[in-house]
Amino acid sequence: MKIYIAEEAGFCFGVKRALEIINRLYKNEESAQIFGELIHNKTVLKDLEKKGINCIHSLDELDTNKKLVIRTHGIPKEVENRLKENNIKYIDATCPLVKKTHKIIENLTKRNTQIIIVGDKTHPEVIATKSYSKNAIIINSIEDAKKVESRDKISVVAQTTLDLDFFKSIISVLLEKAENLEIYNTICIATRLTQKAIDKLAPKVDAVIVIGGKNSSNTKKLFEISLKKNPNTFYLEKAIDLNNPDLISSIKGSDSIGITGGASTPPEEIEKARLFIESYKIEREKKNGKKKRHYTN
Ligand code: SF4
Repeated sequence: MKIYIAEEAGFCFGVKRALEIINRLYKNEESAQIFGELIHNKTVLKDLEKKGINCIHSLDELDTNKKLVIRTHGIPKEVENRLKENNIKYIDATCPLVKKTHKIIENLTKRNTQIIIVGDKTHPEVIATKSYSKNAIIINSIEDAKKVESRDKISVVAQTTLDLDFFKSIISVLLEKAENLEIYNTICIATRLTQKAIDKLAPKVDAVIVIGGKNSSNTKKLFEISLKKNPNTFYLEKAIDLNNPDLISSIKGSDSIGITGGASTPPEEIEKARLFIESYKIEREKKNGKKKRHYTN
């Protein structure tokens, strides 16, 4: 059995940057709290909790004795305004690529154009992005795109973790809806590279393991992309979830297994998954070896 790790997998630049900010505070013995989940990964959040770094979900929960750090996905403009109005200091760990989308939307609102955000309306990143324009609409399916009213001018941006092919299919519908369609491909480079890597790896292996938070948008996308190319794709929250008899029986006949992880999946989790499959492989080879001896004796 061969094990392949996707060429691009695990922590992205934005997540690494956010964790560096938090770890620096911790090293300097400064107590901190995060607005929202710093990243969508339970293992990482639990580790932070052990260090006394908790998440708050509204300003009412704010502990003024602790430093406030803004999550990677950003916060709505009105929340940021409240922080400023109340002179509450904060450290902004919003990914610069998310910030870039906010800037685009903010500039577009000054022009006579219908802004469309393609993404999940319940995701914190999209909620924050939408807050930069009252008139922006969010769509997340071909059906939604078909319902968009025809306009002279439409400007469209994407959630940073969107599947590129899905974005293209939405664009092809919107092309019929406007004389001038302005496209901002705001899908971040890290997302594009990890998606490309799993798209390449999935059809070449017998099974694929996708590791990452079940609420992580980009991990979910990796799973969907892999599933399209390989029906033997499994989505696990943590590497330890590999220790499951049903899953083992599904992958036990595989000669090759691919592993990937989302932008919020720690590299250690990917390594743990590799080690687990490696140990299973050794076990299987031992058993096969024993069987062989039995028959040849
Ligand atoms: S996935 Fe992209 S946009 Fe999101 S945090 Fe990572 S680098 Fe930033």
